[in-house]
Amino acid sequence: ERLSNATLGRLPAGVARPPYDRSRLTPGLVHLGVGAFHRAHQAVCTEAALASEPDGALDWGIVGASLRSPATRAALAPQDGLYSLAVRDGLGERLAVVGALLDVLVLPGSAEALLGRMADPATRIVGLTVTEKGYHLDPASGALDLAAPAVAADLASPRAPGSVHGLIVEALRRRRAAGLAPFAVLSSDNLSDNGRVLRRAVLAFAGALDPELARWIEGEAAFPSTMVDRITPATTEADRLRIDRALGLEDAWPVVTEPFSQWVIEDDFPLGRPAWEAGGAVFSSDIGAWERMKLRMLNGAHSAIAYLGQLKGHPTVDAAVADPEIAGLVEGLWAETAGTFAAPSDPAAYARALMARFRNPALGHRTAQIAMDGSQKLPPRLLAPLRDRLAKGAPCGHLTTAVGAWMAYVVVRIRAGGAAALDDPLADKIAARLAGVDRTPAALVGALLSLEAVFGRDLADSETLREALVEAVERYLGGYA
Ligand code: NAD
Repeated sequence: ERLSNATLGRLPAGVARPPYDRSRLTPGLVHLGVGAFHRAHQAVCTEAALASEPDGALDWGIVGASLRSPATRAALAPQDGLYSLAVRDGLGERLAVVGALLDVLVLPGSAEALLGRMADPATRIVGLTVTEKGYHLDPASGALDLAAPAVAADLASPRAPGSVHGLIVEALRRRRAAGLAPFAVLSSDNLSDNGRVLRRAVLAFAGALDPELARWIEGEAAFPSTMVDRITPATTEADRLRIDRALGLEDAWPVVTEPFSQWVIEDDFPLGRPAWEAGGAVFSSDIGAWERMKLRMLNGAHSAIAYLGQLKGHPTVDAAVADPEIAGLVEGLWAETAGTFAAPSDPAAYARALMARFRNPALGHRTAQIAMDGSQKLPPRLLAPLRDRLAKGAPCGHLTTAVGAWMAYVVVRIRAGGAAALDDPLADKIAARLAGVDRTPAALVGALLSLEAVFGRDLADSETLREALVEAVERYLGGYA
């Protein structure tokens, strides 16, 4: 039997369920991109907000939209939008059925229903988790790529949009025509300065259609920035079967995640917002500070773990940090990056929480996945703190080891299968640089350092850095040279 409103009462005692009267829940939020991450993160915070006032107005239910695939609707509609969240670590799994999601619309086919919902006076926030690709940004300028096919198609027929910009602008146009204030637009995607980036893109799209509408959006609409963090891998068939057994009911699409969750939000919601602090959200006017700490501590460590883990044959993060050499590198990296940013919270406590997350054996977070797109990830994660340390003449042996591990990883992959074996937007360029050079560590390091888009001129010119990298590459490439 299927999980649904009708079967909620049959869940075993250990499974949490919505503590409020779900029949009174009405929509206040629309969310574009109801993937695993939204359902494990923002929807769960919203659930906590609803639970914090079970006798309150209950007017912050979520209507989700899938912009591309009918799969989420197909799974959740027969369940009245209910799904289970499995929070896992080495001690076991905690299950909760989440009630905040009221409905899922699928864009091809339901554009009118979705636009109607977005333009409805009850909708006060439109959220997004559509991956970086959903933003259609030009990588060089960070501005909206007006020539991207999805964007160009929406500019040609703006009343029947398919892109997030097209949807947001058409819904805002309808609100303006109806004399309604705009909803707040809330990106929870992993993009630096996500609110500002999205605002700029939406204004560019609106400006290309109707400059007056663009001015209204610019003057009236809020685009708060956020920092998000909760590792949420794609659900596997094994997860589904295990969770069905624990529920005693069938859930077609549960979500599996870790205990840790962080959501830092700029508090700019002119029409109000749910009491997300009840779910642990932090409100801050300096999202950039939280972002830098995350990039340099979490993401920097992740990259080091991924490249060294790949070189040493560790398929997952927990396996990699069980290797004392890698755990030591991570601790050393944190010691070096510590002074390179203004910490918005206690960095020692953050580091302890991070190491506990890395050691979580229940997530199976793959080093190969984190290793992707290194040319894009290295600059903010490892090269920015490295620059700071080099400028001060401070020791940076751990940072250079991590960068050297990336170089060794790149060489190993390209030797094994050419550019196609490296999952990176610069793969062709990197392969071309490596093609003509000697196989000595010095020559390989020189070729990779010459990638100006990654290292800039300054790092390529640093003799100290070059020598440290040659040593690291020699160490890790020894077995392969
Ligand atoms: P997912 O694959 O489960 O869901 C992605 C959603 O984005 C889907 O609804 C998909 O249809 C939509 N989408 C993808 N490409 C699109 C496009 N070109 N245009 C419009 N919509 C598009 O992935 P997820 O795990 O939910 O992650 C989504 C995003 O959430 C990530 O890209 C990241 O920005 C953010 N995030 C994820 C995690 C995580 O651990 N999964 C952690 C932090 C942040």
